[in-house]
Amino acid sequence: METVRTQDATFNDLPWKIEYLPERCTMCGSCVAACTFKAIEAGVERRSITISTGHQPEPNQQHKAIPVIKQRNSITNTCVGCGMCEKVCPNRAIKPIRNADSRVNMLARIGGSPIKRGGRNNLTKERTLDKIVIGRISQMTDPSLDSERHTFDILAPFGRVLLPGELPLSVSDGELRLNEWTPPVHWIYPVIFSDMSIGALSTRAWEAISLATAFLNERHHIPVRMSSGEGGMPVQLLKSEQLKYMIMQIASGHFGWNRIIKALPHMKVDPAGILIKIGQGAKPGDGGLLPAAKVAEHIQAIRGVPKADLMSPPNHQGLYSIEESVQKMHMSLNAAFKFRVPVAIKCAASATSVSVYNNLLRDPYRICGGFFLDGIQGGTGAANEVSLDHTGHPVVSKVRECYLAAVKQGRQGQIPLWAGGGLGLTGNAAADAFKMICLGANGVFMGKLLIQLCGCVGNEEGRCNACNTGYCPTGICTQDPRLVRRLDVDKAAQNIVDYMLALDSELRKLMAPIGNSSLPVGRSDALVTTDKAIADKLAIQYAC
Ligand code: SF4
Ligand code: SF4
Repeated sequence: METVRTQDATFNDLPWKIEYLPERCTMCGSCVAACTFKAIEAGVERRSITISTGHQPEPNQQHKAIPVIKQRNSITNTCVGCGMCEKVCPNRAIKPIRNADSRVNMLARIGGSPIKRGGRNNLTKERTLDKIVIGRISQMTDPSLDSERHTFDILAPFGRVLLPGELPLSVSDGELRLNEWTPPVHWIYPVIFSDMSIGALSTRAWEAISLATAFLNERHHIPVRMSSGEGGMPVQLLKSEQLKYMIMQIASGHFGWNRIIKALPHMKVDPAGILIKIGQGAKPGDGGLLPAAKVAEHIQAIRGVPKADLMSPPNHQGLYSIEESVQKMHMSLNAAFKFRVPVAIKCAASATSVSVYNNLLRDPYRICGGFFLDGIQGGTGAANEVSLDHTGHPVVSKVRECYLAAVKQGRQGQIPLWAGGGLGLTGNAAADAFKMICLGANGVFMGKLLIQLCGCVGNEEGRCNACNTGYCPTGICTQDPRLVRRLDVDKAAQNIVDYMLALDSELRKLMAPIGNSSLPVGRSDALVTTDKAIADKLAIQYAC
């Protein structure tokens, strides 16, 4: 018998165990082929039975070798619970079972390197938004609207909004004239498809989201905009009319911007906006990370890099203060597009968010086109687990504080506030968006929801979350062409379109009862909570 070595990992240490029923299995091999993590393998097990067949006991030992599917006893080939094996098994002979006694987090720092994970923050289960309801309903004194028949104005600004008195208007010869330049502002749908790069996502997943964006705009006249994420864009798209639906992101790695700058003279239309990413809510203070496994040839071409781990610095180089960032980045990016394209900034929610917003509000050039705040429950392509689970700040109270700081100065709405980070997490993005808007956001941005609609099987309870590995079993977060083929672009795009059409109706269903026909930005009187601490912090009504 082999010596027991207590330090070695066993099945009981892994986060997921495979439940296998050999009596149902026909050894078709589908499960092994489907498992991108090589967590299971076909093997042979020896069985030994003692039988007696005659009138007199004549024990006879028989040995058999039977083929089986086995879970690998390996931390590097850990089952992530994606369920692909279960999905493809024609006989329901195999499925992953969560292991409550897993010790893998103690054992997985192989070679002394920190655990990395993609996907989501798994420690924040309690959401403030779920403890808030829309409690002010117009009834007797101010009738509510009919959500089916009334016309609603569901638009939010992307770009610096000037006060009426600040507009350089004059009347000459009976005509209203604009005397000087005014900052560009686009009125768009209050849900932006959030920044997931073309390296983090597979080409098909990125294409599905951009297809859904174009379809919603052109067929349904819903002016949704999509952010490119840090990593550039395909040249074809840069030169196409569809560029007008895209918000181009620049982050600290400046990936893809060489191509964008070269494509500038060939652009037929302006992009919808520029988003300068300073930080990300799911891993604040950490730069982007695209592991070499995902740096496929087309990613190398778009980003102009060799096949290697691509790490963006945690901060923009040469940036020592937010004031400097506003001046340098905003000025150069505004100038690059001849001051025709709104430029906004995205930061991770943090204890300092209000100070940053206050500084932006004082922007003397009036060119800061928006403040995007990203909270702790946002998603990530790849990050150290310690950053994912133990850094970050919830976004709800920060948006509220920023809004109230602007109200105090009489500047609310001038630099639009956009909120993101885990919105739509529980399935109802319209309710989350509506509540954030009532708290002071002009609009919201969502990314994780989109990949869920594409077919992602990950969740906040640790299922899958292997977006960093390059082995995404659904073809969404991988660059392996065999896996990417698993994703049906048209179906994924259709799911997103259907969800957004439903979300649009749901937003109306929430606006109508409070009697608002335009977005209720800052209408905190519409919200009620049964949690006293939340009521006090957000300055909304407490009810019990
Ligand atoms: S659940 Fe996913 S990772 Fe686990 S064995 Fe099945 S296919 Fe492989
Ligand atoms: S299915 Fe793909 S995108 Fe979803 S959590 Fe797993 S690896 Fe990430």
